[in-house]
Amino acid sequence: MSTIQIKDRLFKPYIDRSSIDSAVKRLAAQMNKDLAGKRPLFLCVLNGAFMFAADLFREINVDAEITFIRMKSYEGTQSTGIIKQIYGLQEDIKDRTVVIVEDIVDTGFTMQNLKKQLEEKNPKEIKVATLLFKPDSLQCDVKLDYVAFEIPKAFIVGYGLDYDELGRNLKDIYVVTE
Ligand code: 5GP
Repeated sequence: MSTIQIKDRLFKPYIDRSSIDSAVKRLAAQMNKDLAGKRPLFLCVLNGAFMFAADLFREINVDAEITFIRMKSYEGTQSTGIIKQIYGLQEDIKDRTVVIVEDIVDTGFTMQNLKKQLEEKNPKEIKVATLLFKPDSLQCDVKLDYVAFEIPKAFIVGYGLDYDELGRNLKDIYVVTE
């Protein structure tokens, strides 16, 4: 693995594929214990979480379903700023165990907002899995049940995450250089 360039920025290797594999297997093992008999519905948040969700779901060995959603921004009022709304959820989640699968939790606002919108649909419980979590950036109270990696404040690409839509196909995770 070596430093790569995407558009105007340089990125250096940060988390390699085998570490990602181990972390995904660790999370899946925990989920297989927690979710047995619940027939959970995994909600993969596109685009960033597609690779993580595919690898994670492959390791799930209890009855489970998966579906794909997007959070799309629209302009709210001045006080609420940019609001993100769920698109693409066809399933009825009432009384179901839902597992949100996200790529990264940074300030936490996206996750908080997503959870709030899902809670209005009266699921039995909502669990949250994220590949990456930046605890130093967190600005709201959101409970994360499964975290593959805690990382410092820094911009990440690869393994599904993009820089201006590029870099999602990288097998490993890279961090921007200063
Ligand atoms: P939050 O609402 O937690 O601040 O941000 C969540 C969203 O911001 C993520 O789903 C992701 O799209 C984007 N994001 C935050 N940090 C990064 C990062 O380091 N790299 C990439 N590629 N996206 C990020």
